[in-house]
Amino acid sequence: MQVPLVLTDFLDRAVELYGDKPAIIDDDRTLTYKQLNGRVNQLSRGLGDLGVIKGDKVAYLAPNTLEMLEGFYGVFQVGGVMTPLNTRLKPADYQFILEHSESKVLFVDADLYHLVETVLPKLPQLEHVIVHGGEEEGATSYEPWLASFSDELFDRAKLEETDIASLLYTSGTTGNPKGVLLSHRANYLHAMSTMHHLRVSDQDTLLHVLPMFHVNGWGSPFYYTANGATQVMLRKTDPKLMLEKIKKHGVSVLHMAPTVLNMLMEEYDEVQPQIEQDVRVVIAGSAPPPAFVRKVEEDLGWKFIQVYGMTEISPLITTSELRSMDLDLPAEEKYRLKAKAGYEMIGSKVRVVDEFGEEVAHDGKSIGEIITRTNGIMEGYFKNEEATNATIRDGWLYTGDMAVVDEKHTIEIVDRKKDVIISGGENISSIEVEAILYEHPSVLEAAVVATPHDKWGEVPKAVVVLREGETVSEEELIMFCREKLAHFKAPKSITFIDELPKTASGKIQKVIIRKSFWEGHSRLVN
Ligand code: ATP
Ligand code: MG
Repeated sequence: MQVPLVLTDFLDRAVELYGDKPAIIDDDRTLTYKQLNGRVNQLSRGLGDLGVIKGDKVAYLAPNTLEMLEGFYGVFQVGGVMTPLNTRLKPADYQFILEHSESKVLFVDADLYHLVETVLPKLPQLEHVIVHGGEEEGATSYEPWLASFSDELFDRAKLEETDIASLLYTSGTTGNPKGVLLSHRANYLHAMSTMHHLRVSDQDTLLHVLPMFHVNGWGSPFYYTANGATQVMLRKTDPKLMLEKIKKHGVSVLHMAPTVLNMLMEEYDEVQPQIEQDVRVVIAGSAPPPAFVRKVEEDLGWKFIQVYGMTEISPLITTSELRSMDLDLPAEEKYRLKAKAGYEMIGSKVRVVDEFGEEVAHDGKSIGEIITRTNGIMEGYFKNEEATNATIRDGWLYTGDMAVVDEKHTIEIVDRKKDVIISGGENISSIEVEAILYEHPSVLEAAVVATPHDKWGEVPKAVVVLREGETVSEEELIMFCREKLAHFKAPKSITFIDELPKTASGKIQKVIIRKSFWEGHSRLVN
């Protein structure tokens, strides 16, 4: 008989093989795997006492903390669905997500309680609110509550691998956040694949830089736990604090966004001589320029790997770690390769297809949409069958990301489908045009979007934020682009504004920018 692939297996393995090894370090608190397991058992009993049963959603609003990590396994043991919330939303967003997810219990960090305080009375289905690290009127305080339950072995809910483990909301870059349902099996197989590709071992110490509420950070506790690695918590992405923890705890692996890595590098020179151990690898989830990869590898001496994915697929499906045949390439060539999304991971088939579903030529030029068949695939969007059916067709998930692929199956992201500008039958990557605008010394931020045009269908328009005190005219900036880009790719017009609309995770919301230019017109993809 086959054994179901459930995430509690990972903790069991760590407790058995690495029981007395540090599992979590959160500032001055350290838990071994045995101690973690004890608290997880207490939490599961507590949840049972509150009436949480299989399939119930349990929401968490917390930075990366010990309580958040033990929450993963505590919730799974009762068969609950972990529903972590982005810590940078507005009260109305919390109301929307808490209602939409039908969460029964909310665990909230004392520092973040004010974010939900006003909406709690408007959520009748939310039965219990429990505060980590503090006291609030009408809410239960976590530690005394936890202490009232036994840490003995917990009689778990019977779990099937197809049971839902998590309900994760997407970043909301292209519209309202969507609730993604991921099963135990999807998370489990994703963890197996990722631990192999990142070569995770019991010698690793991970610093949790990426927020665990977001899917990039969400999956990592599974594969580091399974291997008995140590996980160090980080509450704030403050570069000084990060470097301090890297040094103090001998951190070997970091997963972070290139923007955060950039901040860290700014601070690094001062602290570098004090860091004795090697950071084995740093993993980033969006495309930085090759010059950035060079900086990380040469100045810091840290190995850089790019990964690509999205919430709907657990999330990772490609890696840019160099293959053996690429190890002898000249340095420049290697950095260029590592700045791409890379090639498919084990457990995921990744293809780039045209509008008829045919694979595009592997020539590094022909643009198509990335589609994937992956073990990490979601069960669907929660309460949104229409969006689910539009995204998963014939077993393939359509990512909405456009890419080119070369003869060695290396994938390079060109743009999101919605952001590609189709002008006179030519595809223009908004990212490519933005990269040129960013080269101009006066430009702080830029977004390029399609605007309607009688003759060409669409033409590119730039919306630009200038650096403080800088001035540059629209004509000057357009000319700057025309010198470096094919004529049809250069923006036809430029609007200067003070601030670009962004999601909580800092992604520019081009859909909002684009909308203002399309009144009275309809666009095929929007
Ligand atoms: P929403 O779906 O709500 O609009 P979102 O797509 O930004 O938000 P996420 O699932 O957090 O939500 O992000 C996944 C997206 O991030 C991918 O579809 C892709 O566009 C982008 N992305 C992820 N990894 C990379 C990468 N390595 N290079 C370029 N873009 C990436
Ligand atoms: Mg998306």
